[in-house]
Amino acid sequence: MEDCSSKKKSYYTADEAEEALIRSHIRFHKPAVSYYLCEICAQFHLTSRGETHPLLLKPEVIARIKKEQQFQDWSARLKNK
Ligand SMILES: [Zn+2]
Repeated sequence: MEDCSSKKKSYYTADEAEEALIRSHIRFHKPAVSYYLCEICAQFHLTSRGETHPLLLKPEVIARIKKEQQFQDWSARLKNK
């Protein structure tokens, strides 16, 4: 099997990939926009190219990202004191 995962993190299930996609939006300024099933390793990878995954357009997901970002900012500020 060709190793394509040396650079990219891979996820065994779509659920894991979805979670990772959401987390990338919480943490990064240039997050991944979607995930795809890799033809080489048959696992999921995140990608920053292409169309935004519909998951990221769901109101409950957008709300979760905002909420966790706020929590992250808040705990970062506490650490700096
Ligand atoms: Zn792969």
